[in-house]
Formats: sequence, C-alpha cells, structure tokens
Amino acid sequence: MTNSKLFSDSKKVIPSGVNSPVRYFEPYPFFTKKSNGAYLWDVENKKYIDFCNGYGALLLGHRRKEIINAVSNQLSKGTLYCTPTEAETELSKLIIGNFPSIDKVRLVNTGGEATMTAIRLARGFTKKKKIIKFEGCYHGAHDSVLVKAGSGSAHNGISVSEGGLDEVSKNTLVVQYNNIEDFQKTINQNKDIAGVIVEPILANMGLILPEKNFLYDLRKITKENNIPLIFDEVVTGFRVSPGGAQEHFGIKSDITTMAKALSNGFTIAAVGGRKEIIDLLSPGGKVYQASTFAGNPISVSAAISSIKTINKLKNKLYSKLERFNLLFTTALDDMATDMHIAHQINFTASMFQIFFTNKPVINYETSKKADSKKFQKMFRTLLKKGIFIAPSQFEVVFLSDAHTENDLNKTLDAYDAALKSVKN
Ligand SMILES: *Cc1c(COP(=O)(O)O)cnc(C)c1O
Repeated sequence: MTNSKLFSDSKKVIPSGVNSPVRYFEPYPFFTKKSNGAYLWDVENKKYIDFCNGYGALLLGHRRKEIINAVSNQLSKGTLYCTPTEAETELSKLIIGNFPSIDKVRLVNTGGEATMTAIRLARGFTKKKKIIKFEGCYHGAHDSVLVKAGSGSAHNGISVSEGGLDEVSKNTLVVQYNNIEDFQKTINQNKDIAGVIVEPILANMGLILPEKNFLYDLRKITKENNIPLIFDEVVTGFRVSPGGAQEHFGIKSDITTMAKALSNGFTIAAVGGRKEIIDLLSPGGKVYQASTFAGNPISVSAAISSIKTINKLKNKLYSKLERFNLLFTTALDDMATDMHIAHQINFTASMFQIFFTNKPVINYETSKKADSKKFQKMFRTLLKKGIFIAPSQFEVVFLSDAHTENDLNKTLDAYDAALKSVKN
C-alpha cells in the first residue's frame, strides 16, 4: 500500500481526505500505520521521529507503558457507563491538586468543548455578552472564538469562517497579543465584557511567549474590573509544568481549560474554576453543559495514569525536556546564523518554533510576516529525512519524554539539510 493510493481513496469519502484541516499538506500526507515512543511508521514502512506528538498531547511519548496498562485494565471492565464513577472524582482531585486556582472541575471531551463551556460560564456568571480574545490565539473551532484565530485557520487564511454567525462573532472583541495598552483601551471602551480568554503561552501562531508583564497586567486589570479571566491551557496544561502556565508564571486564572497533555493521547478535556463560577453548571446551576462521553472510564483512566506519572517524574521530566530544548534550539540557532539565514527561534519548556524573519515574533502580525514558504520548504526536507513536525508555520515543535539524545542529534542533522534547502 502507498500513501498516494490511500490519499486518492480517502479524498473520495473524506472532505480533502483529512479529518482535521492542518493534517493536509502538499502533495498528500503520509498515512500512519503505527506509533511507538518517539516514532511513527507510515504504510510504506518509513519511520519518522515525531515532533508533532499529537499537537502536544503526547508529552510522555506514544504508547507510554503506564498509560497503556491503565487503559487495558479499564478495557476489561467496560468502556462507557454514563453513570458516575469513583475514578472521575479521583481524576478531579488530581487536577485540583496540580492547579490551585481550581476548586471544581467538569470533564468534557475536547479542547473546543472546554473553551465553549468556559465562555458560557463567564457569560452566565457576569450576565454580560462580550468576550475578549487575542489575535492568533486558537481556542477551538466554534463561532465565538474562531475570529482571527491561529492554528489551521491562520494556516488556511480563514479569519472568520463562512457559516459562522456575525451575530456571534461581533460579540468577540479581538485584541493584539502582548499589547496591554490595546487591552486596557478595549476594557475602557466596553462595559459589556463577560470574560477574557487567552493562551498564557501562544502556541498556535508558531510559538509566541508572553512579554514580561503581559499576563500579570491582564490579571490585574481583569480583577479590577471584575471580569473572569480564562486561561486556555489546552496546550500548556501539564506541558510547561505539572500545574500548567499558571504554575510557571505564578498567576491564578478564574477559569481554566485543559486537554492535550491531560491524558497523553486519549479523548478528554476539562474546564475548572473558582467555586462560585463553576457551580453555575447544570443541573445545580443554570449554565447548561452536557455530553454523553464526558468522563468516560477509558479516557479517565488514561488521564489519572498520565497525571500520576507526571507528578512522580516531576523535575526529572521537566528539567530533562528543558535541557534538551535548550541544547537543540541553541544548536539550531548557531546553524541558521552560520548560514546567514534571517531567523527567530522562540522556545520554552518542551516547545519551540523557528520563523524566517529578522524581526522578533511577538504577535499575530509578526508571525504572519515570517516567510512561510521557506518554512514549507524546510518542512518538506525534514519529512524526506524522516522528521515529522506539524506541517505549518503556525504550529509548534513538541518534544516528548520518549525522545533520546540520539533522536535529537539525527534531527539536528536533518535541520541542517533543511536549512540549506531554505537558503538555496
Ligand atoms: C488544540 C487547542 C484547542 C482545541 O482543542 P480540540 O481538542 O482540538 O478541540 C483549544 N485551545 C488551544 C490553546 C488549543 O491548542
């Protein structure tokens, strides 16, 4: 079987042949048949070192032993009950233990569902309408946040989706990331703000770090104005530290969403927050939210095992990944500098991205201005050499606990060739 044959088949029955837009790339994506540790194998038996890692979900690597064991054990006891289980309480306690800003947590299935619920909660709590989001932040594919969003929608040049309602998106005010003056002005000019949602580290426009006081000022201004602050930690939760970006920066949000690295590769997400807000959820409160598969025992067993593994490893895990990232990005930076290629590398914890531009990348505009054609060229060379990073400038390179020094050295060699291909 070949990737090309499978793609021509899939195109006939799946829109564009893929089940999520960013998975497509020219001329066609490879079709994976299995994964293990740091690797993917495609149907042509080509092996790739994986740096997409489920868009950050696979912090501990593919088929991590502890998690597979927990899930196998649960599989023999059932897959879906739709009644409460003790395990859901155990998982909620683990999440709350890692995130001191969270009093209670409700489990959902996807990041988008979590942010949708978070925003509805903020509106229900404040009885106000408008939300503020930041340019380039991605919070899922629903109407109120799919405005100047990052990730696949930036990649495909969609700033407002067709089929989305203007009546919804006009209640979403968009502010420049890292621009606290713009934020303060928007707050001053609008009395109807229900909530502010932000990626505390922007991981959907490539990687963009919050500038020094940006998050502190956001917290201060939202508090002064009694506006709930939502940290969308769908990427950063469990990835930048066991307690997410809020632990990393020492800032408490009012509502938090998390998903990707919560279960190391199973379908689960969570929305948590202060008691007086989260308790508004039905049936006790009047903010409606529901899902058949929420808290299903398979995903819950994966998440429990994932958090326990992370908490056990703690410093060992995070300091190893940080060290690898620093070594890697320093070497990459040297390479690009030696080749006189204009570039920026943004990195933190176990994530990085390279941009081909001579201007620092600090927001949507500066990320958009980087030469994404060069990025695509680099991507194709990396792929040929068996390195799989997410196929877009507006995504991030994710390290996992499964990567070895040897993997990283091989990857650096591939980047060397890829940068040469960009230079020519
Ligand atoms: C991926 C992502 C989402 C959406 O999560 P899904 O599970 O794909 O719906 C939301 N917020 C952020 C920050 C993300 O990176």
